[in-house]
Amino acid sequence: MSSPRGGTARTAPPGRNPAPQPAPPPGPNPEPDSTGLVPYPAEVAARYRAAGLWRGHSLPAELMAAARAHGDRTALITPEVRWSYAELSATAERFAAGLLARTRLRPGDAVMFQMGNVAETVVTYLGCLLAGIRPVCTLPQHGTREVAVLARHLGARGLVLQADFGRGQLPEQARALLAEGVIEEAVVVRGEVFGKAVGYGELLRAGTGNDPGTLPYHSRPPEGVAVFQLSGGTTGLPKIAPRQHEEYAYNGALWGRTLGWGEGTVVLYPLPIMHNAGVSLALQPALLSGAALVLAPSADIGTLLDLIERTRPQVLPLVPPALAIRLLEEPRSHRTDLSCLTDFIVGGQKLPLEVAERLRDELGIAVRQKFGMAEGMFLLTPSGAGEWIRHHTVGTPLSPLDEIRILRPGTEDEVPDGEIGELCVRGPYTIRGYYRAERHNASAFTLDGFYRTGDLARRHRLGGAPCYSIDGRIKDVINRGVEKIHADEVEDLVMRHPDVAHVALVAMPDPVLGERACAYLVMEPGRAPLTVATLGAFLLGEGLARYKLPERVESVDALPLSNVGKVSKKELRQDIETKLAAETV
Ligand code: AMP
Repeated sequence: MSSPRGGTARTAPPGRNPAPQPAPPPGPNPEPDSTGLVPYPAEVAARYRAAGLWRGHSLPAELMAAARAHGDRTALITPEVRWSYAELSATAERFAAGLLARTRLRPGDAVMFQMGNVAETVVTYLGCLLAGIRPVCTLPQHGTREVAVLARHLGARGLVLQADFGRGQLPEQARALLAEGVIEEAVVVRGEVFGKAVGYGELLRAGTGNDPGTLPYHSRPPEGVAVFQLSGGTTGLPKIAPRQHEEYAYNGALWGRTLGWGEGTVVLYPLPIMHNAGVSLALQPALLSGAALVLAPSADIGTLLDLIERTRPQVLPLVPPALAIRLLEEPRSHRTDLSCLTDFIVGGQKLPLEVAERLRDELGIAVRQKFGMAEGMFLLTPSGAGEWIRHHTVGTPLSPLDEIRILRPGTEDEVPDGEIGELCVRGPYTIRGYYRAERHNASAFTLDGFYRTGDLARRHRLGGAPCYSIDGRIKDVINRGVEKIHADEVEDLVMRHPDVAHVALVAMPDPVLGERACAYLVMEPGRAPLTVATLGAFLLGEGLARYKLPERVESVDALPLSNVGKVSKKELRQDIETKLAAETV
């Protein structure tokens, strides 16, 4: 491997935390450039570099430098493989060279991902970056329509897929996307290769013997988009978070550094690895710090306990509350030695206090919490924090240059400490705008570039750095066991049903998943009500991912309206809560 070239500034290797500095001066957020990317203002980017946060290297250059530094150490463990850094990076280099030799994909292209938690996903992600190709972090659960909408928005030309994922539906989807001309190249990274697709083995063979020094990442500048993460739904204009090289590398390195990761650290990750949390809290920080990443094929409790016994991880960097509950309910957890787990980090969804207390009392686990999003900003319980902070807040932001404002919703006015307002965030790894989405950006960001998260929060001053609690949300999203369902996306598709006159999708409380989706329907006159099954079949036919399907249907004569004439989802949420409470007595 040759040394990284290109880049605008060079700095010392990671390992030191720069001293906190005053916030960059407020200025207007820049306009999008010709590609649709809203860049960081030049003076802000210069400041992040001068402070040593951004290092002037591309993301793949950083990852390969770390791979060289930790060559013989274990990088990746799955139930099938145990690879050193040298093995993983050499395979990714072959994949990258093969991709450029055997497909029409070229540096700068975007490629849709439909891959599960298997070793080949890591090779493919790294290989794309080394080839200068931008991964689009779609999930294998996404349907044809969803992938097509996103691919068209981005102009993505390729799709990489795991043919043996789930019920084996992905090759058929890929065929349809090829036939419709949405994508030009399909690469089967695992499972049986079909018709026009290219296979993983063929790429590795084609890439063997290629000089890794010639791979495109060496000559690509660190500015610009490295990876596309997903945020919103896929009807209307998609919300795509363009993650840029330096900030995304910083995000990963910072997380690992904050948690003290290095050679000898073992990180276990059971959620979809291509999700932003998977990439930012597990894959990239592990590979940048010399830690070993243990990729669980699923969040099945038995598999998880097997992997804990076998690999003795110190860190579970993201445990959704639903998974924590299942762990508590599983008798085997209580017989398993969990003492290796020094950082059990719960997040993605509000952690019920009772769950935090049960983890402490029944499994001897002192939880930490994290809050974060595809747009960037992460908060984490500070190390050594007392129990009130650990149980009632999501802690403090990771970077000394992260900035948080709690604003009166829809305004630029800050609320006093202790009062609830909208959490608005800006900083060295938070995007300044969605990709090609000027209309969204006008309302989703303040004039000076703070991202309006749509979450409600409070600032607590308890001595030390201020901590934040999450106290609800104003965005119309259902958080189903940390998978987000955007109500407008599902409602738009329900409205395509000829028998439906009106629909409102709301969250209903669920003891394990936190929330599930409930559809309130007003039928056209004389039409029979839809059931969960008939509505679900219709929505699957419209290409909606299965996890977004409504799990309860309520037929009503009319939807309640607020005093400004909008559908009152608050009333509907109360209605379904009352019904559920009555049903459980
Ligand atoms: P995503 O972009 O899919 O990671 O979703 C980000 C959203 O998940 C946030 O804006 C919150 O609504 C929610 N979220 C993430 N972490 C937490 C948490 N610890 N507590 C409550 N909500 C959370």
